[in-house]
Amino acid sequence: MAIKKSKFIWMDGKFVKWEEAKVHILTHAIHYGSAVFEGIHSYKTEKGTAIFRLDIHIDRLFRSANAISMNVKFTKKQLREAIKKLVKTNKIQDGYIRPIAYYGYGNIGVFPKDVPTNISIIAIPWGHYYSKDLSIMNSRYRRHSEKSAVYGTKISGNYANSILAMYEARKKGYDEALMLDLNDYVSEGPAENIFLVKNGSLIAPESRSALPGITRDSIIKICKDLGIKVYVRKVKLKELKNANELFYCGTATEVAPIISVDGKKIGDGKAGKITLMIKERYIDIVRGNNKKYIKWLTFV
Ligand code: PMP
Repeated sequence: MAIKKSKFIWMDGKFVKWEEAKVHILTHAIHYGSAVFEGIHSYKTEKGTAIFRLDIHIDRLFRSANAISMNVKFTKKQLREAIKKLVKTNKIQDGYIRPIAYYGYGNIGVFPKDVPTNISIIAIPWGHYYSKDLSIMNSRYRRHSEKSAVYGTKISGNYANSILAMYEARKKGYDEALMLDLNDYVSEGPAENIFLVKNGSLIAPESRSALPGITRDSIIKICKDLGIKVYVRKVKLKELKNANELFYCGTATEVAPIISVDGKKIGDGKAGKITLMIKERYIDIVRGNNKKYIKWLTFV
């Protein structure tokens, strides 16, 4: 999705004008992907702009930083306040928030010895990531295993793997890629988790190669209320292709129906009923229309 500018970007504690928010070409993260980031969604609600599950995103940012021995110079509380202030200052309603902590300028070698760390936050207006139902393909690229990455983290360098799979899919005319893990089990999409619907229940593929997404976690919780059983277990590609319904989910993606895999129609080739029911409930919650989940919202 194209970038919609906002007024300020927060850089190491300062509100910097959009045009002036720049980094040096020798920034370590540009060369080696030595950065960690989050994608967070804010929504327009009746009580003003609300940020969805902010604290848990900040927790994950720190876990990611820890994985690459990065010392974040601000506390969780300071970042939380900075995000709220930035969203407010930029007058964001439906928005996307991207905190990114990175190894900066100081050493051209791979090992970030004596390299200072920086952190920035971007908050921009944001519409829908996908506005159509998705046709996906099984990628030739496999997701990182725990032997080559750290489970549960969002480290920039790892996204080269997502870019490979996305280009492969787009070049072949698909909307999105699907990736398996090294053991041939379904892992996830390049930036989203996947769910199957089979006989009225949900199956959440289990893979230590997939990011345990916050949207995925939210959906598993919401399904309890909807009386939909959720099974978290390993899934092979063949089972995925025989699902009644499929959908991708993620902070940016929200809930996106998948209507075909490798050209094979899923269900009747249209967005499924249960998928749409979950999507509706999810949107209701993020928009602040469900009292039970108001605790998931941080009002700015
Ligand atoms: N997998 C990957 C690789 C991702 O980048 C994302 C987006 N953060 C997801 C899954 C979905 O995670 P979340 O629901 O926390 O956004």
